[in-house]
Amino acid sequence: MKPKLTDLTSEQKRIICAEACGWKRCACGDTEHCDVWYGPAEDATPTIGVSNYDESLDAMAEAVGTLGIVDRRVFAECLVKVCDGELPGDVLGDAFVIYNASASQRLDAFLLAKGLAE
Ligand SMILES: [Zn+2]
Repeated sequence: MKPKLTDLTSEQKRIICAEACGWKRCACGDTEHCDVWYGPAEDATPTIGVSNYDESLDAMAEAVGTLGIVDRRVFAECLVKVCDGELPGDVLGDAFVIYNASASQRLDAFLLAKGLAE
């Protein structure tokens, strides 16, 4: 069963997003004390923690950049849904709101588009 966006903490959303982008947690198994992560690149240096996708447009741009051509359209549809309450209802007004969607809104749309939350 997919978790609901409203039931997930920011940290849980960050981790789901990171894993969807190919990040892997250190294999030592000590998830309580160890927060070392390895990026998808072969030569990636380990980092502490995952990116702050919900606060960083740069991090979200990286995540959205992993989407294929079909998933990009699904992401766009999901972003419209996430922003729905703010859309004024005219084409340019709606476009302005969507272009300016926050990192947090983009993260929610990403998780919806990837089918990782509902
Ligand atoms: Zn470890």
